[in-house]
Amino acid sequence: MVAELDIMPISHWLPNIDNPLLIAGPCSLETEEQALATAHELAKDKRVFVYRGGIWKPRTRPGSFEGVGSIGLEWMKRIKEETGLPVGTEVANAQHVEECLKAGVDVMWIGARSTASPFTVQEIADVLKGTDQTVMVKNPVNPDVQLWIGALERLNQAGIKNLVAIHRGFTPFRESKYRNYPSWKTVIELKRLLPNLPIIGDPSHIAGKREYLLEISQKAFDMGLDGLMLESHIDPSCALSDKAQQVTPADLGKILDALVIKYASS
Ligand code: PEP
Ligand code: MN
Repeated sequence: MVAELDIMPISHWLPNIDNPLLIAGPCSLETEEQALATAHELAKDKRVFVYRGGIWKPRTRPGSFEGVGSIGLEWMKRIKEETGLPVGTEVANAQHVEECLKAGVDVMWIGARSTASPFTVQEIADVLKGTDQTVMVKNPVNPDVQLWIGALERLNQAGIKNLVAIHRGFTPFRESKYRNYPSWKTVIELKRLLPNLPIIGDPSHIAGKREYLLEISQKAFDMGLDGLMLESHIDPSCALSDKAQQVTPADLGKILDALVIKYASS
C-alpha cells in the first residue's frame, strides 16, 4: 500500500532548471581551501546546479575521517556567496538539521544508512516540519523499496514537498564489480509507485571507482532518471574519504561531455 505523495517539481526550488539536475562536489569538505577551490572550478561548468559536500560523515568503522563538522557550514556560506551555487549536505540527526536551517543550507539529504532507520528519519522530519526545505532521500543500504518510500512519506507527512530520491546502489551480498550494486528494477518500481517523484542517480557511490562513472551515469539517464549526484574533488589522490571514486572538476566535465543527453546550456 502506497500513499500518494504531495510533491513539487524540481523547477519549484531551482527555477532555472531546464536540464537534468546535476549535483557535484567533494565527498567531504576537508579544508576551506579544498572546499572553495573545488566549488570555483565546478561553478565554471554551467551544467552543475548544486554544490554538495559532506561535513558529518557516517563511516563504516570508527577511526577514519568523520568530517569537519559545523565549521563546514561557514565554508558552505562562502561557497554560496562566491559562486552563487545552492549548497547541500547530509544530515543524520535533529541537531544537523537545526544547524543547516540556521546556516541557510539549500538542500539536505538523508544518507543510505539513515534511510534504513525510521526513528532517525522521523526525528529529521519532525525538525523540518513547517519549513519548505528541499530534502533528498538516498535509498536504504538494503534493497527495500518500501523502506525507501516510508522515509519519503515521513518527510511528506511533515509537509516537505520538495523531495528527490537518490539511487546510490545497495550493499552487495556477494562479489560485485561495483561498490554498491545498482538495482534499476527497484528504481522502475519506485517510479511506478510514485510517478511524480524526481529520482536522480549517484554513480559515485554505486561505482566505488572513477573508471565506472561514465557507464553508470549513462545507464541512469537511459533508465529515465532526472539527474545525477557526482563526487568531485580538486585533488582526488589526496581525498580523506572515497578517494577512488572522486574525479577532478575537469574530469567531471569530460564525463558530462561523453554522456548522450541533451543539455540546453553547456
Ligand atoms: C555520501 O554521499 O558521501 C555518502 C556517505 O553516501 P551514502 O549515504 O550513499 O553512503
Ligand atoms: Mn562519499
